[in-house]
Amino acid sequence: MSELACDRCDRSLLAFEDVRYELRIEVKAAYDPMEMNPSAQPSDLKDEIRKLIEATEGLTADEIEATVYKEFKFDLCLRCQREFLQDPLPRRPPEPPTQPWEQPWE
Ligand SMILES: [Zn+2]
Repeated sequence: MSELACDRCDRSLLAFEDVRYELRIEVKAAYDPMEMNPSAQPSDLKDEIRKLIEATEGLTADEIEATVYKEFKFDLCLRCQREFLQDPLPRRPPEPPTQPWEQPWE
């Protein structure tokens, strides 16, 4: 039997924990239903397919898949489960402006 460990802190889940938690994260492209046009013409679809092919040029199959759908599954110990629930999506600090016209007026 393989050792089951917390995917975040490597703590053994069988030896030290009475309970373990499964964390599933699903990241998928979201589309606005209003963008779906049932009366689209074949020429519209060809244009969309051409744009899609151009957008994915140079990407691997895994990279293309990740732009549409990605699922993660993790095992967590009690401590890591509690910490995750307290802050499941940590905010990233704002990035400094990269262009001169994005600089604040002085
Ligand atoms: Zn843990």
